[in-house]
Amino acid sequence: MQALRIDPCTLSPECEALRAEVRAFLAEAMADVPPQKRVRSWAGASPAFSRKLGARGWIGMTWPTRYGGRERSALERYVVMEELLAAGAPVAAHWIAERQSALLLMRLSPEVLAPRIVPGIARGETYFCIGMSEPDSGSDLASVRTRAVRTDAGWVINGRKVWTSGAHRAHYMIALVRTGTAGEQRHAGLSQFLVDMKTPGLTVRPIVNQVGEHDFNEVTFDDVLVPHDCLVGTEGEGWSQVSAELAFERSGPERYLSSTELLLQMIDAADPADARQAVAIGRISANYAALRQMSLGVSGMLARGENPAQAAALVKDQGALVEQAMPDIAHDLFGGAAAPGSALAHALAYTTLAVPSFSLRGGTREILRGIIARGLGLR
Ligand SMILES: Cc1cc2nc3c(=O)[nH]c(=O)nc-3n(C[C@H](O)[C@H](O)[C@H](O)COP(=O)(O)OP(=O)(O)OC[C@H]3O[C@@H](n4cnc5c(N)ncnc54)[C@H](O)[C@@H]3O)c2cc1C
Repeated sequence: MQALRIDPCTLSPECEALRAEVRAFLAEAMADVPPQKRVRSWAGASPAFSRKLGARGWIGMTWPTRYGGRERSALERYVVMEELLAAGAPVAAHWIAERQSALLLMRLSPEVLAPRIVPGIARGETYFCIGMSEPDSGSDLASVRTRAVRTDAGWVINGRKVWTSGAHRAHYMIALVRTGTAGEQRHAGLSQFLVDMKTPGLTVRPIVNQVGEHDFNEVTFDDVLVPHDCLVGTEGEGWSQVSAELAFERSGPERYLSSTELLLQMIDAADPADARQAVAIGRISANYAALRQMSLGVSGMLARGENPAQAAALVKDQGALVEQAMPDIAHDLFGGAAAPGSALAHALAYTTLAVPSFSLRGGTREILRGIIARGLGLR
């Protein structure tokens, strides 16, 4: 069996100074945001907030300046993300674009698409959605059926994407579609396209989630014409491109910091004399501390240019486990005592309904464990 190593990582004094700056900014920028909104964590969207963050240089802060970035370190970025998540900041508008779409464009279309689009992402003005899943293709992305056909005028796309988070406010989608036949190689014949969400023939329909909110959508393509230069990367290389993108999708601290508002409400409501509460909250805090070290280690790997795919899968899997256990623990400790309408009652109700999706979005538990097992040489 091979070892899966996540080296410890410490934050420099510069990072901690930045943390103080971010906290001061959030205290002011989020002064009017009640706990009932903070509980949405990175699912909450506010374009105005994203623009404020962009103006501070805290979106795309590691990117080259020619794309609107600030050329700061991955660990400085980690600190900003951590503070945003701990505060329940409404980051959903720009989150996907910053986390993965911009990286894809800078890597695969550095001269054409990235200069045109990435600076708007850094300003917090341009938003993306991910068009991977389809009605019959979720874990098994190699089976996507949405198809692009090359014509003289461009590529014509037909098909259907589903569970597309933020498609209703996104300016662009990165769509994974079939451009060739799979043949013997199941993963062959896939390509990625940059799709302008205003293109005729593209329809976004809301899907209301279990919490009762409109976050994700169904997106249909009826003869959607995409210019030739919007093929991202190489025709037929979509599978390897997507695999690299998924490592970024899974590597951030949002994979264990989606329910901090519930933890904060539990701490506020706790009776210091109650040993059962102290043990339970202490255990969650210890889990958070371990996950934080692992998550920081993943950021360290990114900073060193290493591939964090397996380590990120481990953090995401374990993070979801800890977060999914929290509502039951909170209910056990405070359920009857939480006053109806209180911030604790709301956080408990919201988180109870939200957590099942944590081990689905971004890759299911079984898929992540398959990746971890492969990394350990077990399959
Ligand atoms: C909140 C949320 C947001 C999302 N946002 C987006 C988005 O923006 N863009 C996007 O493209 N998609 C998005 N998704 C979709 C998400 O990526 C898929 O739900 C996920 O990949 C699983 O696919 P599926 O739903 O088709 O389930 P399936 O793949 O059908 O899986 C069903 C069950 O079978 C198990 N399973 C499947 N294959 C295997 C296997 N080989 N071995 C063992 N077990 C297996 C799975 O683990 C799961 O338990 C989102 C989902 C959620 C919940």
